[in-house]
Amino acid sequence: MKDATKCTQAGYRPKNGESRVPPIVQSTTFLYETPEEMADIFDLKTTGYFYTRLGNPTSGALEEKISALDGGVGAVACSSGMGATMMAVLNLCKAGDNFISQKEVYGGTYNLFAHTLRKLGIECRFYTAANTKEEIEDMIDDNTKLIFCETIANPSGIVADFDMLRELGEKYGIVIMCDNTLATPVVCKPFDLGANVIVYSSSKYLDGHAVALGGIIVDGGNFSYKGNKRYADFNNPDVTYHGLVFADVPAAFSTRVRTVCMRDLGAVMAPMNAFLTCLGMDTLHLRMRAHSDNALYVATALREHPMVEWVKYPGLAEDRYNTLVDKYFSDGMASGMIAFGIKGGLEKAIAFQKALRLIGIETHIADARSCVLHPASTTHRQLSDAELLACGISDNFIRLSVGIEDKEDIVQDLYNALDQAK
Ligand SMILES: *Cc1c(COP(=O)(O)O)cnc(C)c1O
Repeated sequence: MKDATKCTQAGYRPKNGESRVPPIVQSTTFLYETPEEMADIFDLKTTGYFYTRLGNPTSGALEEKISALDGGVGAVACSSGMGATMMAVLNLCKAGDNFISQKEVYGGTYNLFAHTLRKLGIECRFYTAANTKEEIEDMIDDNTKLIFCETIANPSGIVADFDMLRELGEKYGIVIMCDNTLATPVVCKPFDLGANVIVYSSSKYLDGHAVALGGIIVDGGNFSYKGNKRYADFNNPDVTYHGLVFADVPAAFSTRVRTVCMRDLGAVMAPMNAFLTCLGMDTLHLRMRAHSDNALYVATALREHPMVEWVKYPGLAEDRYNTLVDKYFSDGMASGMIAFGIKGGLEKAIAFQKALRLIGIETHIADARSCVLHPASTTHRQLSDAELLACGISDNFIRLSVGIEDKEDIVQDLYNALDQAK
């Protein structure tokens, strides 16, 4: 099946007389007639639901839909994108381990990696888009558990160099983990490009209407943990799971996320949010086309305005990441996020935002409505000046999430506000 069909139909197939749409199973628990039946589910001998932290039919429909779109073998729905990233990393790393990440990542992810995980004894070694493959290679040692990137980095718009990451992953037998939030599986399929685990903030395009916070971890099933010394926890019998060796289990990564990380850390998605996210995903293929087309039109128009110093959008032919868009993304789509710089710095950036009428000032991206954000004074304000610079954020940097309104109305609102900020 093609993506459009998977968006509308995958993940849920009702039986005769059942509800056409995945029902919201608003229940913490599930009833069994015998204790043996429940024990078999605990032992992974059969599948079924027993407690919503470890699985729920509504979340299950969402998990199967995204897994089908990405070409994965399993998925786990989480409370938020941050919950998903935290559990995906903790599924591989413990105190004393390290991992490697692109430095230009989402602000929350950067804080988690640079500060919070460090306090737990897990060291993140950062590379930037300027580093060579050899420089990244030098960061790898026996305790390096994964390499992390964002397909399209939020908010810098850097596109991941998947060919380089795939080579490193294969050479050293290291998991490549990719945050595919901004691209979605409609624009990019990281498992086909060498990634082994995908994480999402489903709060963004997957939901698409700004109604449900959520995150999803997807297992590519394309990494062999068996016998790989780097992943002792997958190869040694797990004492917390009566001696199970996860490397022997199908969909080892997502099974362990669910049975160990979700069991113990508990950042689970609510059934209501799974329902809303599933509903949003029914039109993901239509929306990503519209976001991408609108963003290219808006980026082209912004470039022409005298108040605009620079525009970064990977879909623009002159953008330094445009060749990677051609190489890795579907049908010329480059998603809906643009970054641009206003002439005159902070003061003009504030004046411009105040003059907008249609486009909202929001801590959000990737829903149907266009919105802007000034990262230096909002999402990234906890970062030091040096960290801001390293993330590629200047004080005149505006992040624009282009919605699916009429493209000329969006440009008109931007032009009016830029003219007033002059
Ligand atoms: C928003 C976002 C996150 C965090 O997701 P939440 O659902 O807000 O926790 C992670 N990565 C990227 C790229 C994001 O845009």
